[in-house]
Amino acid sequence: MLRRVGGPLDVETLDLAPPKADEVLIRIGAAGVCHSDYHVITGQAAHELPVVLGHEGAGEVIEIGARVKGIVPGDHVVLSWIPYCGECSFCTRARTHLCRSYQAQLSNGTMMDGTCRFSSADGPMRHLSMLACWSETIVVPQQSCIVIDKAVPFEVAALLGCAVTTGVGAVLNRAKVEQGAVVAVIGAGGVGLSIIMGAKLAGAAQIIAIDAVPDTEPLARDLGATDFLLAGEDVAARIAAMTGHGADHVFEAVGKRTLQRAAIDYCRPGGQVTFVGLDADDATIALPSTRITRSEITVTGSIFGSACTTRDFRRYARHFMEGDLPIDRLIGRRYTLDRINQAIDDMLAGQAGRSVILFGMDAP
Ligand SMILES: [Zn+2]
Ligand SMILES: [Zn+2]
Repeated sequence: MLRRVGGPLDVETLDLAPPKADEVLIRIGAAGVCHSDYHVITGQAAHELPVVLGHEGAGEVIEIGARVKGIVPGDHVVLSWIPYCGECSFCTRARTHLCRSYQAQLSNGTMMDGTCRFSSADGPMRHLSMLACWSETIVVPQQSCIVIDKAVPFEVAALLGCAVTTGVGAVLNRAKVEQGAVVAVIGAGGVGLSIIMGAKLAGAAQIIAIDAVPDTEPLARDLGATDFLLAGEDVAARIAAMTGHGADHVFEAVGKRTLQRAAIDYCRPGGQVTFVGLDADDATIALPSTRITRSEITVTGSIFGSACTTRDFRRYARHFMEGDLPIDRLIGRRYTLDRINQAIDDMLAGQAGRSVILFGMDAP
């Protein structure tokens, strides 16, 4: 858990209250390590402390509250960090990822009733995104649980909970990349690699990966990139030379203002730029407004793959089972929970692929 901004994380035993009527007790099987957790550690994403981190996870249902429906003990679930109400104007227009019904609790790090289930001698501990997946057992709202096929390994299922859905969904749901399209992807971390997998699934003809770390090239190519450019190598000119007019679709998966601005220069007239990475909450960039008008470039964003999680977690799990989304190859190193600080350091050092924390019998 995180007790102070800057970390490191403490690994210790906490008390966990049983699930309330609308809640579910989960034994975590696997949890991914995401840059968004790191942003909480650094304070870039401000959060009440102390908090148990981890928002990308999957596990087995152990116990359910009295009002829980459609979930039974023994089910395997992927956890969603955007639970939705199903009734508001966003949810009824199939934009469940924009549901604001639980925003206050999500930013406070409490459960839906405003209280916490974790506690220690110094008092309550908050739950990141009502999940806190970097823990052996957790209590979550039933709205956060999406039941999936038990044949999907936990380490694959966990990555559906953030990186894969964020990347693949940005391609399929938001940008709606067409068959034969030219796609440029800035950043080849967990989300960028998922965008590459999604672009391949959509039938893109050319997928250009751009990253600052040369070691990421083999995995980017393995997952579908046809070209790899090292950041800083006059990327705009090289993309123009490779494509003629620029890419049909450009995705920024790092969350850096300079790269978001550069993305617009990689895009062809009539093309679309989709911001997927998150910079600081108050980040702004200056747009080349005349060129946007003359070239009809669309600049948009996508949060959590613009996903309807109940539909998309299962859809992407099916694609994995059918061999169309090789999520298992996205996994980088595997760790036990006591090495969580090492896993974060390795991610920052540019370790290729998504790092995964494994629990119980799956632990390395
Ligand atoms: Zn994440
Ligand atoms: Zn809603």
